[in-house]
Amino acid sequence: MSRLNGPVVAIDGTAGTGKSTVGRAAAQRLGYGFLSTGGLYRALAYKVFQEHINPADDAAVLAAAQSLTFRFERQPDATLKMFVDGEYLGDKLNLDEVGQTASKVSTHAAARAVLTEKMRQAGKDGGIILEGRDIGTVVFPDAEVKIYLTAAPEVRADRRVKQLLSQGAPADYTHILASIKERDLRDTTRVASPLKPAPDAVQIDTSDMNRDEVVEAVVKEINKYAA
Ligand code: C5P
Repeated sequence: MSRLNGPVVAIDGTAGTGKSTVGRAAAQRLGYGFLSTGGLYRALAYKVFQEHINPADDAAVLAAAQSLTFRFERQPDATLKMFVDGEYLGDKLNLDEVGQTASKVSTHAAARAVLTEKMRQAGKDGGIILEGRDIGTVVFPDAEVKIYLTAAPEVRADRRVKQLLSQGAPADYTHILASIKERDLRDTTRVASPLKPAPDAVQIDTSDMNRDEVVEAVVKEINKYAA
């Protein structure tokens, strides 16, 4: 399929494999846009929090998803900055509790369908890297390039600890490792769009690679399509 601005690139994988960092860096190199789709689930989780909705309540979570409006603004660093009901939520969405609730609300198939449609709208013209869990399998099964990143849970926990410490935030390895494993389990075993590699995705195990090596490998895959 030929799109207005170039290919759609799907990067999927578990939490902490570096999908965001790598996706953003690759997008900058190529002049593409970059969207971290977990942000939409985090926005829904935030709304669920704010309105004291039970994350297990199918109908209430769906209504919350339907009520959200999203606007994306392309930034100089390639990121599509997300405004939810006109507001930029920033770091509020990065809290671990929001990530956990996001993983809960994202088990509802009908709410997923609502957010999936928003992602398709944001990406349909191409020239974009979307990072998430089901981009290559559900959101854009026709993506021109599909990449699936993996890394051992211990490596991912270690990376997260370093990231938090570098931000001056407290970090407990044991707690973080348990949280990563809990989220992996929920994301891979849910009935609606479980996390799994698309059959035609290129899998990259990043456990023993540094950030630049992964960016290099991703850019190489995208350039194969462009060539
Ligand atoms: O990637 P991030 O940690 O921001 O994602 C938060 C949660 O949103 C994930 O644990 C996952 O449950 C959900 N998610 C999803 N599908 C996506 C992106 C994120 O189910 N495409």
